[in-house]
Amino acid sequence: MLLYNTLTRRKERFEPIKPPRVTVYTCGPTVYRDVHIGNLRSYLMADWLKRVLTILGYGVFHVKNITDVGHMRQELLDQGEDKVIAAARAAGTSSMEIARKYTELFLADEALCNILPADLFPRATSHIPQCIHLVERMVQKGHAYLSGGNLYFDITTFPSYGRLSGNVPESLQRAGRTDPDPNKRHAEDFALWKAAEPGREMKWESPWGEGFPGWHIECSAMSLHYLGERFDIHTGGVDNVFPHHDDEIAQSESVTGHQVVNFWVHGQHLLADGLKMSKSQRNDYTIRDLQDRGFDPLAFRYLCLTAHYRSRLNFSFHSLMAAQRGLSHLRRFVEDPLPLGDFRPRGERAERWRTLVREALTDDLAIPLALGHTWAMLGDRVLSSSEKAALLVEGDEVFGLDLARWPEAVREVPGQAAPMRDRRASLRKGGRYDEADALRKGLESQGVEVRDLPEQTQVLRRSRAEWKGRPREISSSRQVPSLLEEQERYDVTVSLVARNNWTDLIRCYRSVRAHGGSRRVQVVIVEGGSRDRCRQGVLDLSEEDPHTLVWLADHPLGEGGFRNVTLRQALGSMVVLLDTSVELTGDIFEPMSRTLADTAVGATGPKGLVSADMQAFEEQEQGPVDAMTLYCFAFPRRILPQAGWMDERFRFYRHLDLDYSFSIRSCGYSIRATPGLPLLFHPHRVWEEMDPPERTRRSRANFYLFYRRWHHRTDLLTRGV
Ligand SMILES: [Zn+2]
Repeated sequence: MLLYNTLTRRKERFEPIKPPRVTVYTCGPTVYRDVHIGNLRSYLMADWLKRVLTILGYGVFHVKNITDVGHMRQELLDQGEDKVIAAARAAGTSSMEIARKYTELFLADEALCNILPADLFPRATSHIPQCIHLVERMVQKGHAYLSGGNLYFDITTFPSYGRLSGNVPESLQRAGRTDPDPNKRHAEDFALWKAAEPGREMKWESPWGEGFPGWHIECSAMSLHYLGERFDIHTGGVDNVFPHHDDEIAQSESVTGHQVVNFWVHGQHLLADGLKMSKSQRNDYTIRDLQDRGFDPLAFRYLCLTAHYRSRLNFSFHSLMAAQRGLSHLRRFVEDPLPLGDFRPRGERAERWRTLVREALTDDLAIPLALGHTWAMLGDRVLSSSEKAALLVEGDEVFGLDLARWPEAVREVPGQAAPMRDRRASLRKGGRYDEADALRKGLESQGVEVRDLPEQTQVLRRSRAEWKGRPREISSSRQVPSLLEEQERYDVTVSLVARNNWTDLIRCYRSVRAHGGSRRVQVVIVEGGSRDRCRQGVLDLSEEDPHTLVWLADHPLGEGGFRNVTLRQALGSMVVLLDTSVELTGDIFEPMSRTLADTAVGATGPKGLVSADMQAFEEQEQGPVDAMTLYCFAFPRRILPQAGWMDERFRFYRHLDLDYSFSIRSCGYSIRATPGLPLLFHPHRVWEEMDPPERTRRSRANFYLFYRRWHHRTDLLTRGV
């Protein structure tokens, strides 16, 4: 894929540092007020980038920070002004409350735009020790100095300062962009740590007294902490380039001594009626403002699809209206009942359209072009309507307009809702708003959601679970919050998948609870699509035991998806993936944690696999191995940010263990079997109940997935070649 790199000012071929993993850091919001749609445009860009990398087969790990200590601008920082604190004071509440409220609103706004959540949303205030540590290293290396109680970065110690923006210090001075702070040695030096002014609410102990971090330091600290000293892509809006990203480069590279970020990708501004969005212009619309005016949030997403991310885009309600029409039109192509599911048109003509779209997407995210090809494809006179719909839904994996879910939502409107909807539309037309609102309440009590759009009123079915107040079901692992940022609270997290396997599951679960000893053991169970008593059974288990956590999915998420649900919720320092065919007859946790005490070991378990050629694998039950099997697969939680989530294309369980083992190996860890674990291996139900041809077909498909990704990494094999 070609990607424009702000650092080199040209399009470059993108190659990940550790394929198939791609590590991405995005500068997130400062949570003292709503994000406006201009901010959302730059998060949409990161979302499209991520989706394109995903369809290319990469496993993306995405970190987006939350700035909850809010000194955004140098002048304000120098006056000791903090936006989070100021907003809290104005609202008569605490900074923490303000930050929590706007973090929630931000996440909701992203969801409205169908932006896939980042894998991690680390907050600045939970990473103060990392910030302090980084500043200490800069002090040691002579890049920082203390003056007037504050620590500053001395830009003369970093000769390539300004490389990203091209703002070399001389030109800054000429442009009069200098800073009046008398404590600084040079006008362009920037604060790393500031002393707290008297009475300040948000402050922390540091080697330099009570204070708070400078704005730029958190992104260096959190990106290095979660993504390591070299990562693939850093994104942000153009207004982040200077000074924020120039300063981040100075901080991170002066400490590591080398380049940290390979690609810097920046999204251009969204203008509103030709003007920059700002509070003072009162054109800083939020996505909820657009909703209040009757627009679908996804119409805004569509609008952003129509301009390249490196071009300015002008927002107006007129253009939004056109986008809404475009979106409705696309939706009509998928409205008829279609044999979608796994249907993938194969013919030469379909392939040609598919290639055109993909070529556009991989040429520096030329999404408007890809959308143009899609419209042209829909006008193709040879393709059938179901082929068109299938290709459209396929392209929507990147566009993200949620077209696949659309027909389902529309068709399942309860029987009486349609006439009520029409009645409501005519009431509104006649200006009888009170009656229309009463009718809306009636519709909502039937479990449907009413959305008023400029052209029509839509009635969407809410999921049954939500409607009846039952625990919310998930339909993707991404809906489960990632707790990676939280402190470890257990010694062990055991991950179990419940699906039509109640007798096995309960045997396995009871044996885990019986042999946990004095250890704090968290069990995370995910259930989806069972026809036996699994669902009720696991709900009962979670009622009985507060350390048993249950997530319900509305359909089978596949092994990769199921396991990711549990990984996102794991709070134990050792994570143990168990197959429910396994039964513990004694303590397996102690011997495995002894193996993992060696920090060079990234995974362990009873049954390892070794190979000489990445094709044939043999079992080996002790010593260094190439992979660990999913019967019992244990690894330290701390390696998760590096190893990433599991590849959800592995819907069937086989070879997912190989794939994940090699992800761990490619991060530089070894895998070592722990011999003699007290375990019984019962028949593997999924395997036993499957027809032999089906077994072969699904095993082979998964093996290719694994092999395509890893065949060239024979350097990782312990027996080598
Ligand atoms: Zn940042």
